[in-house]
Amino acid sequence: MPAELCAVCHAKKAKRHCPGLGKSICPTCCGTEREVSIDCPFECSYLRDSRRYDQARPAERPAFAFPDIEIGDSFLHEHEQLIAKLSIELLVYALSNPRTTDHDILAALEKLVRTYQTLSSGLYYESVPEDHTQAAIFRDVKKFLDELQQQEQQKGAIRPLKESELLRSLVFLHRLGTVRTNRRLRGRAFIDFLRQMFPAAAPTKDEPRLIVPGA
Ligand SMILES: [Zn+2]
Repeated sequence: MPAELCAVCHAKKAKRHCPGLGKSICPTCCGTEREVSIDCPFECSYLRDSRRYDQARPAERPAFAFPDIEIGDSFLHEHEQLIAKLSIELLVYALSNPRTTDHDILAALEKLVRTYQTLSSGLYYESVPEDHTQAAIFRDVKKFLDELQQQEQQKGAIRPLKESELLRSLVFLHRLGTVRTNRRLRGRAFIDFLRQMFPAAAPTKDEPRLIVPGA
C-alpha cells in the first residue's frame, strides 16, 4: 500500500496529524504553513514545540512603534493592574473571536495609541481601523477604557486615570506584542502568551466562549 501523501503539497509523505486541517501533512508543510494558511489550535503539539523554538531563538524584531514614548520600570510597577486588565480584555476578545490574530491586535493597539495621542493634544480624533476585525477590537478596548474612567470618576478616585497613562499602557502592550508575535499571517503567539499569563481568563479549550450572533 503506498504511503499516504501530505494533504497540502500532495508530494511528500504525510507524517503528522494536523489538528488545524484535520488531515495528515508532511513536516515541511507543517513548518511553512503553520499559522500562515492554517489556523493552528493552541493545543497542537507541533505548534507548542515551535513556540519554544521561537522563544529560544528570537528572530530579529522590527523597531518599536512610538519610540518617543518612554515607559520606565516605575510606570510599569504603578500601572500593573491597568495593564493586566487591558491584557485580559484583549485576551477575552481574541478567544471569543477565534479568527483574531496577533496582527489584528497590534493594528488595533496602534490606532488606539494614535487616538489617545490626539486626546492629549486636545484635538480628539478617533483613528478607527478600516479592517472589520481590527475596528471591532478598537471599539471593544475603547469602550472598556471609557467605562474604566467613568467608574473611577463615580467612585471619586483621588487620582483619576489620565489619558497619558492609558496611552502609555497601550504603547507598552504594543511593544510586548511586537516582541511576542511570530509575525506569521495568522500568527497567535502573542495571544498565546497572554493565555499563559492569565490562565483564569482563558477557557480550558480552544473554543469560543461566547456565541456571537452573526459572527
Ligand atoms: Zn507537504
